[in-house]
Amino acid sequence: MGSAAVGATVIGRALAGSSEAPAGAKTGDAPSDVEVYTVEKTEAEWREQLSPEAFDVLRKAGTEAPGSSELNSVKADGDYICAGCDLPLFKSEWKYESGTGWPSFYEFVEGHLDFKTDYKLIWPRKEYHCARCGGHQGHVFDDGPKPSGKRYCNNGVALKFVPAGSGATG
Ligand SMILES: [Zn+2]
Repeated sequence: MGSAAVGATVIGRALAGSSEAPAGAKTGDAPSDVEVYTVEKTEAEWREQLSPEAFDVLRKAGTEAPGSSELNSVKADGDYICAGCDLPLFKSEWKYESGTGWPSFYEFVEGHLDFKTDYKLIWPRKEYHCARCGGHQGHVFDDGPKPSGKRYCNNGVALKFVPAGSGATG
């Protein structure tokens, strides 16, 4: 598929320019029609690890109810990491109030998200997921603030917030 090949190319380029690429992350050499993640678990293992709400979003590409996430109101400094595998995806400095009821960011940690087009609605949307475990995070839209102009509309339940200085990441 063309979109998968494009995704692999983007990730390959991103990793080449990043000194903190996740260990064993997939490269441009991976087969373009097969998603390969360094964190692979069975459905039963994910169910055991995750809350039912997080499982529905991360593993079934569900969407949480708007306004339901406690992360909506978080403004402290820190990192937002994947609730499935702890990979840092967003920084607090990129978070902004979009008014949508979902945690929103205008930038992400380079190379840590993968993208594909989602046809669940009538119009195609660009879905994104964690590059390490494949967990669905949200959708990206073109109505975000400058400089990127992007709005990464994320399910709060798919993220964990790690306050700066806690030593949990990096
Ligand atoms: Zn993950």
